[in-house]
Amino acid sequence: MAYAVRKRFTFEAAHRLPHHDGKCARLHGHSWVVWVEVAGMSVEASGPKVGMLIDFGDIAQIVRPIVDDYLDHHYLNETTGLESPTSELLAEWLFEKVAASGLPIAAVTIQETCTSECIYRRS
Ligand SMILES: [Zn+2]
Repeated sequence: MAYAVRKRFTFEAAHRLPHHDGKCARLHGHSWVVWVEVAGMSVEASGPKVGMLIDFGDIAQIVRPIVDDYLDHHYLNETTGLESPTSELLAEWLFEKVAASGLPIAAVTIQETCTSECIYRRS
């Protein structure tokens, strides 16, 4: 892929990992950071989006409602349907949700803390 465009979203949310053998089994929260990446070989040749792979605003238009409805200030174990919403499974969940909307998504990065993140890409 020649171009990769990434847009950042943030949300506050609680989760717990019920099977974890440490502190993550307890209910706790994070300030999560999400990067949604779209990739492609070419940019628009003409029109209002000339020179763009995709308009950043078009990414936000699809991803922001998902963040608001399912993630921000929600209990992720309930709103995502994931029994144990790890960064890995959350990234896959968001990837599928965004892909279902028609956006040509290439990857989702979930940062659970400022030192820990997971990238999910389908290849
Ligand atoms: Zn956690």
